[in-house]
Amino acid sequence: MTAASSERTIVSWHAHVYFDPASTRPQADRVRGGIAERFVVQLGRWHEVPIGPHTQAMYQVAFDVEVFAGLVPWLALHREGLSVLVHPNTLAPRADHLIHAIWLGPSLPLRADMLPESIEATEESPVVPNTRGGSRADNARPHDGHGPRQKPA
Ligand code: ZN
Repeated sequence: MTAASSERTIVSWHAHVYFDPASTRPQADRVRGGIAERFVVQLGRWHEVPIGPHTQAMYQVAFDVEVFAGLVPWLALHREGLSVLVHPNTLAPRADHLIHAIWLGPSLPLRADMLPESIEATEESPVVPNTRGGSRADNARPHDGHGPRQKPA
């Protein structure tokens, strides 16, 4: 192979929505509900204590590449003051979290020692959507589960 593989392939994205269990759980809950009713994503469970590289309570939103253009702008406007880490998954967890990340709101420290430099494709969890999304009337067409959802112009 002579072609340089400098262009990484983005397998999927995560958004981690951070909250303080003592004070900003209601905000996090509203953001979560807003995501669930609008987007086809995999909503992870609530982590009330820091886990892995994350130093504050949070929940994870895993989503396919096609969802980015709808979800991330929505989060920018509706994150309710919470910090949100948006990062690509390119099989390079350390760089994905520390270098390629997009922060909405103030950034938080991450534990680099918990982030492997690289993983195998088989170790990357596929996105398994568990929200219906698009329940609003303007997007009520049934979704066949394949390919990007077409939005009316
Ligand atoms: Zn993540």
